[in-house]
Amino acid sequence: MRNMTSPIYRTIEKTVIPLLPLFSRNRPVLIALFITDLCNLHCVHCFSSSENKSPLKQELTIDEIEKISLNLPLFPWLLITGGEPFMREDVSEITRIFLLNNRVTNITIPTNGMFPDKIVNWIRETEKFRLTTQYNLNFSIHGLSEMHDLITGIKGSFKRLMKTVSLIQSDVDKRSDLRIVFNVTLMQKNQDHLESALIFLKSKFPTSRINLGVVRGKPRDPEQKLIAPEKYLLAARYIVKHPYHDLKSSWLNRFFSMRDRMVLKRIYQTLKKTVSYRPCLAGRLSLVINESGDVFACELLDQTLGNLRDYQYQFQKLWHSQARYEILKKIKEARCSCPHECNQIVNNVYNPNLLLRHTLYSLFRDPGRKRFWA
Ligand code: SF4
Ligand code: SF4
Repeated sequence: MRNMTSPIYRTIEKTVIPLLPLFSRNRPVLIALFITDLCNLHCVHCFSSSENKSPLKQELTIDEIEKISLNLPLFPWLLITGGEPFMREDVSEITRIFLLNNRVTNITIPTNGMFPDKIVNWIRETEKFRLTTQYNLNFSIHGLSEMHDLITGIKGSFKRLMKTVSLIQSDVDKRSDLRIVFNVTLMQKNQDHLESALIFLKSKFPTSRINLGVVRGKPRDPEQKLIAPEKYLLAARYIVKHPYHDLKSSWLNRFFSMRDRMVLKRIYQTLKKTVSYRPCLAGRLSLVINESGDVFACELLDQTLGNLRDYQYQFQKLWHSQARYEILKKIKEARCSCPHECNQIVNNVYNPNLLLRHTLYSLFRDPGRKRFWA
């Protein structure tokens, strides 16, 4: 494992590592590592819990995860996901492995917030690895109290989630490298109730960021995919009008605000089927490793690039395999397009034309102007 380095060197790394994939298309920007498919909730829109899959394969062990990490290049953004990631006991160890071996600059953990003690413990552990990495705890919230419980299938899950968020609020207030994000997923059940949830989140947690997603994949209840794009537009407009940070304070804030607006707009256009085609970079700049080592271009495509166990964890061999090139060809030929927000972020930021556009807009125009979202 590589040694930790000085804060100055790390700051340089933090600037350089996210830029590397712009110059080398063989280096991922985003790796979504599914560390378990177990979960203690029973969400109607879930596409990823163990009961949706068969047969169950053995989860990657911590030693296997370390071997994978050691064979991966430096990359900026790691998503530690599941199932519910905190069902595992070793989230802190997994975090440490990728920080030290791959110098990741952003670690995002989507969670249902049902394990407050483990989350607090993870926060304490990350204090030992400040290293200027940005840590995001993304709490899934689907509506206000009753609606959230109805969607998760567990009474009291909203109350427990709020308790967890309150518990960590003081740590977040003290640390600029730790952020609370709320993942709000639009689905058939909550589409008429989202505004009240957004108003609640904005008033109670004004500086927290809200990610607006759309139900995806093959949900437990297929009817949840029956959504009206206008409902997405309403929620997106609310988020745009209520930025989570001061847009006047820095150019970077304006840049990210502009990026988020473009992503929201693109997702809405995809839902409306009015979007112009833009090549998806899944399988090139982003990839998914599931809990048993299968690698996918994205979490929505069933065809695997291969299993890392079969490649003795040698990522580069899998990355240059024929199977991967065939999937990339298929994605291109199908002109694949979807509203998945993580891939939309990568597609929007690592496209040189769009990057230039975001930069110029955020430098010379007021990102709060309506016409960018009209
Ligand atoms: S919390 Fe996430 S993983 Fe768990 S059931 Fe809900 S959607 Fe699925
Ligand atoms: S457009 Fe969506 S489904 Fe298609 S490859 Fe990209 S992320 Fe996957």
